[in-house]
Amino acid sequence: MANNYDIVIVGGGPAGLTAAIYARRADKSALVLEKSGFGGQIAWSPRVANYPGFASISGAELSDRMLSQALELGAEADLSEVTGLEPHDGGFIVHTSDGDYGAGAVVLATGARHRKLGVAREDELAGSGVCYCATCDGAFYAGRDVAVAGGGDAALQDALLLSNSCNLVYIIHRRETFRAEAANVDALAARGNIRRVMNARVVGLLGEGELSGVAVEDAASGERREIAVDGLFVAVGHESDNAPFAALAELDGAGWFASGEDCRTATPGLFVAGDCRAKAVRQLTTAAGDGAAAAVAACRWLDSRR
Ligand SMILES: Cc1cc2nc3c(=O)[nH]c(=O)nc-3n(C[C@H](O)[C@H](O)[C@H](O)COP(=O)(O)OP(=O)(O)OC[C@H]3O[C@@H](n4cnc5c(N)ncnc54)[C@H](O)[C@@H]3O)c2cc1C
Repeated sequence: MANNYDIVIVGGGPAGLTAAIYARRADKSALVLEKSGFGGQIAWSPRVANYPGFASISGAELSDRMLSQALELGAEADLSEVTGLEPHDGGFIVHTSDGDYGAGAVVLATGARHRKLGVAREDELAGSGVCYCATCDGAFYAGRDVAVAGGGDAALQDALLLSNSCNLVYIIHRRETFRAEAANVDALAARGNIRRVMNARVVGLLGEGELSGVAVEDAASGERREIAVDGLFVAVGHESDNAPFAALAELDGAGWFASGEDCRTATPGLFVAGDCRAKAVRQLTTAAGDGAAAAVAACRWLDSRR
């Protein structure tokens, strides 16, 4: 087939671009297919301060640098959505919105999406007080008052993390009890600077240009009140884009690719990398690590078939 590559990488975020860099340094032809924007989630972050080698860099610039490095090494990149994969002749046919490609091996690096709260002006204030990652952005709010929206383990862990450096942390949950491990609930109760706002949901975001507070509504009474905070950390879960590949790469109950640290799937020649796979820590460093692991495994797999 025309348009044949040693390795086709689905997703142009940090995991996919790292995979392309490793593939090219192993002298494999590599194509990265991205459906919306190269750089993935991090392209939306105004400031990254935890990626080694960069004390502070915008997500857009980091994305540009990753893409440039892959392209300078000879990777190809195209903006199109991969709609499915089909095993073919020991490799794969990769179906996209713009036609088909042949691949000896495929790395799925389809990433993740933070669920949004769904309140007005959430997109406008994202990065200006509205955050989706306490590990990434919590340090920017040291000594200030913040809120966490959510009631699962991720939300409680975010609140605990933020309470180490923030002044006051409000945790706002729409139910009467948390849906989290007892250990996290107990740890939360033991912190003197965490305030629970139960049976309540965030219904409004306050502030012009920068967040200055949230409006919450009590589920029973409908009463509204405002809480002054500089940061709102939304922790209501992640979603994946993995469904089109489920026939070839097993998904766990939450929709993540069920692969271990070796990034292999049960389908020979098919690898997964980054936030799209089941894992404990979804960060740039872990995505880049997966991209390297998946590409090295893919190169070895291709070499073993020669
Ligand atoms: C606002 C924000 C701030 C963050 N800040 C930090 C931080 O400071 N430090 C840190 O370590 N982490 C941070 N993160 C998390 C970090 O961005 C992610 O862990 C990282 O981007 C994961 O990389 P990835 O390549 O696995 O996935 P993604 O970045 O999600 O990239 C996956 C890409 O695959 C594409 N894709 C999906 N399906 C298809 C398909 N079918 N066909 C073609 N393309 C497809 C998507 O469009 C996407 O571009 C932040 C995240 C957000 C949202």
